[in-house]
Amino acid sequence: MAWYAAPFLLGAVSSLLFTIPTLFPGLWGLRLGALFMIMAYGTAWQAMRVMLGSPPQMLLLLAAGSLCFMLSVLAGTTGIFHVISTTCRLSIIAAFHALAARDLQQKVPIRTPARRSLLRLLRLYAGFHLLLVPFVFWMPAPLGAAPTTIWAVTTYNFLSVIEVALFALAMIAIPWEQLAFRQQELILQDPLSGGSNRRAFQAWLENDGKICAHEALLMVDIDHFKSINDAHGHAVGDQIIIAMGRVCTEILYPPTILFRIGGDEFVVVFQCGSLDEMLATAQRLRKAFSTETRMIGGGAVTATLSIGAALCPGRGIPRTELLAQADNALYIAKQSGRNRVVHAPWDEAATPLHTASLADRRAHQL
Ligand code: GH3
Ligand code: MG
Repeated sequence: MAWYAAPFLLGAVSSLLFTIPTLFPGLWGLRLGALFMIMAYGTAWQAMRVMLGSPPQMLLLLAAGSLCFMLSVLAGTTGIFHVISTTCRLSIIAAFHALAARDLQQKVPIRTPARRSLLRLLRLYAGFHLLLVPFVFWMPAPLGAAPTTIWAVTTYNFLSVIEVALFALAMIAIPWEQLAFRQQELILQDPLSGGSNRRAFQAWLENDGKICAHEALLMVDIDHFKSINDAHGHAVGDQIIIAMGRVCTEILYPPTILFRIGGDEFVVVFQCGSLDEMLATAQRLRKAFSTETRMIGGGAVTATLSIGAALCPGRGIPRTELLAQADNALYIAKQSGRNRVVHAPWDEAATPLHTASLADRRAHQL
């Protein structure tokens, strides 16, 4: 709370001193106004750091404030020291904005709208203060080193108020947005495999105009999983499901998606240009899974996968049809002995595979 309040209080004092510099004798009103302005921006950056879980950088803040104040004490109303002092103040304020933008980018990885807006705001104000530096001779204080005018003070105060309001709004919105994003992720995630769950699968089936393009879909089922559970217990069964997620992460690369759509049933979707590539990937998955699960349950478990594979034809088809193809191929894989990959060529789509006899299905079994 103190960190949140500090920039507002310091900024208010700075505005007051710039508006009525005669509150203090000589140049002291303007000098203190400049110091409070620096500290207001510096503490706003620290407040942001604290709210993002980083320690405040007090040394840097105090060093910047002291440097600016010493220069302003040396400076008069004109002359080279006055120009140097003003340039230093504008540069430090620009640096505070840039550092705040850097911290925000590093500490808030999820790119939500409020994060994007705050980053833009910080970069805009950093750029604005840097842009003033070449014009420091001509711009009236507090925008530059020329004698102050009402419009310059009003403009500066106006920009500060806008910045403070937008900054505060974004800082309130960012934690809520991050939380909502994480909750959304959890709603769609399967806790065991770490892949997406059935709800996410349903959404995937329904979006993108429901048409697939260059997509391969593997329908994957663990063989005799019920027997494994019965023989070794559910904890061992769970380990096998977890291993499935691990194997997929290890051998398949983004944008591959793993869905767990049933107890021991998975759908793997990946971008793929050819039948050979799809079948090779499916075989790699099958082999890696049986290797990975070999040590589970003290080495007593033999877990294998049956995989039905379907590749989207070049012209594109509804995803539900791609799914039905893979489902039929999986059925054949189970019927013909398990622990294998079966692909049903798209030409056979017209014939529902599970109603034809096995001999009639020219499924491509590897
Ligand atoms: P098949 O080779 O024909 O696929 O036989 P199966 O035994 O694998 O198939 P079935 O559908 O009969 O069994 C699936 C089992 O998956 C039944 C259920 O006990 C188990 N299961 C479902 N969800 C979980 C889970 O979250 N953890 C564990 N350990 N087992 C689960
Ligand atoms: Mg099964």
